[in-house]
Amino acid sequence: MNAILADPTNKLAGADAIQTEQTRAQKRIVIIGGGFAGIAAARASERADAEVVLIDRRNHHIFQPLLYQAATAVLAPWEIAAPIRPLAVKQRNLTVMLAEVTGVDLSSRTIDASCPGLGARKVPFDHLSVATGMPPSYFGHDEFARYAPALKSLNDAEAIRTKILSAFELAETTDDASERARQMTFVLVGAGPTGVELAASMARMAAVTLRNNFRRIDPADSTIILLEGGNRVLPTFAETLSRKTTARLEKLGVKVMTGVKVEKVDEQG
Ligand SMILES: Cc1cc2nc3c(=O)[nH]c(=O)nc-3n(C[C@H](O)[C@H](O)[C@H](O)COP(=O)(O)OP(=O)(O)OC[C@H]3O[C@@H](n4cnc5c(N)ncnc54)[C@H](O)[C@@H]3O)c2cc1C
Repeated sequence: MNAILADPTNKLAGADAIQTEQTRAQKRIVIIGGGFAGIAAARASERADAEVVLIDRRNHHIFQPLLYQAATAVLAPWEIAAPIRPLAVKQRNLTVMLAEVTGVDLSSRTIDASCPGLGARKVPFDHLSVATGMPPSYFGHDEFARYAPALKSLNDAEAIRTKILSAFELAETTDDASERARQMTFVLVGAGPTGVELAASMARMAAVTLRNNFRRIDPADSTIILLEGGNRVLPTFAETLSRKTTARLEKLGVKVMTGVKVEKVDEQG
């Protein structure tokens, strides 16, 4: 047993302490999610006359805006992840709890949580903030996920990076010209900010980062296609930005195709 968690005097040191404490002098604010929103909520509660419990199923916060750089080997995964627990060093009324929240009972003001290695736990609260983010959207085509990872977590970034690097390895090794071309053709679906950043970063990876790394192929010969269902890239931005972005992408060698809706994805393409 973990000595710190089992110490009854160590108020709210971990999941056991949070669960077993029956009489609370202070109000308790529970925040679910240690992303930008959850951390901001925790910090905003620093001066509250309350204990704050921040629960996340991961022990680290991810800086999602740079996931595309982890996916293209510009940054190592650890460079865009920061542990959540050190927040408790600076903020004395804050406790961090590693657990997956599985349910909220508003009538009893209790959270059901599953703690790794400990199992189910109940966490009472007086005030609750739910900051669990959003799952990736495949716009009604969740079946695409099997072949095309989204970019939302470090696992996704690593999966994409592995896919890209493995494709170059296969292209280098195969003797079949059509298979080589297939391996060196990358299709990105969706020209919002993430698709645009990823396409540009892949083009740079192929042309610059991997230059001279291979003998039989030149990664710069890759075909990188960016598909967008709307009539321009970055549809939520100003049209001038869309035009400039398209020009920059094309200069980098990315083929931009707008007005194209993907209807099916399988292992063949
Ligand atoms: C690739 C990418 C690039 C982006 N680029 C930009 C950008 O350039 N600029 C910009 O402003 N925004 C950008 N965004 C958007 C921005 O990152 C999000 O708006 C922001 O991260 C949302 O923060 P959040 O706290 O709501 O959710 P998240 O950051 O997703 O955090 C949710 C947290 O809740 C936890 N959680 C979820 N469910 C549970 C559960 N049941 N139990 C316990 N914990 C749980 C998760 O582990 C996670 O830590 C980008 C997003 C992505 C994916």
